[in-house]
Amino acid sequence: MHSNNSPDSHATLDDLCESAIRRGLAGVCFTEHVDFDPSDSAYGYINYEEYLSDIDGCRGKYGDRLDIRAGVEVTYQTEFADDIRRFLDTHRFDYVLGSVHLIDHIFIGSPAYFMGKSESEACEPYWRETMAMLRSGLFTRIGHLDYIRTRWPREYGRPGLGRWRRPMTDILQLAIESGAIIEVNTSAIRRQLGGPYPDWETLELYRELGGARVIMGSDAHNALSVGQYFPEVAARLEKMGLTVCSECEALC
Ligand SMILES: [Zn+2]
Repeated sequence: MHSNNSPDSHATLDDLCESAIRRGLAGVCFTEHVDFDPSDSAYGYINYEEYLSDIDGCRGKYGDRLDIRAGVEVTYQTEFADDIRRFLDTHRFDYVLGSVHLIDHIFIGSPAYFMGKSESEACEPYWRETMAMLRSGLFTRIGHLDYIRTRWPREYGRPGLGRWRRPMTDILQLAIESGAIIEVNTSAIRRQLGGPYPDWETLELYRELGGARVIMGSDAHNALSVGQYFPEVAARLEKMGLTVCSECEALC
């Protein structure tokens, strides 16, 4: 989840920790945005020292009730892969999530991304970049795999595996072979997209291909969304035979 250490959230770390305690969560992990593309609002935004010192402050206040982890969500872009590697080599975090948000410097969660593009012109670069992210070896935790659904144009038809089974199969196989764990992100339910990122069908395919573990994220940007839909999503994942890992279990 994102606090005001990310450009797209106004929530303080305190707001989010207090919400997590009210909801009975045992722990939280912040995944503040880190971007290397100067066109993105998260470029140069985070102040590493301040962030970690704020986290320490929260541990002092809430640490007896809440396990608080400092993480980042890094936008993967092939052209900035060297910068990302340098950054991750020189900064320590409890958790690093890799996500594709931008193609050709345009946010894929905006209608503008799809303007003037055929479906394949919109999708293929996204699948290619997702494969490149996995091949880069930079990340072992992979965020919201089918985020391209967010502002999916109605004229393309219904989004989902029916349209992208082949690229998604390649992506999931590569994730499984490389030991990367995929995130089940409940913000897509909040956006009324009919299921988490990735959608339920994709999670079934992941299981069929041999995927065993997932990590849940609410992608909360405010106190209301902290841990939203976790109980029901966790129950369904477990019914499917997928193990929901907390980060410390996932590291074991
Ligand atoms: Zn994201």
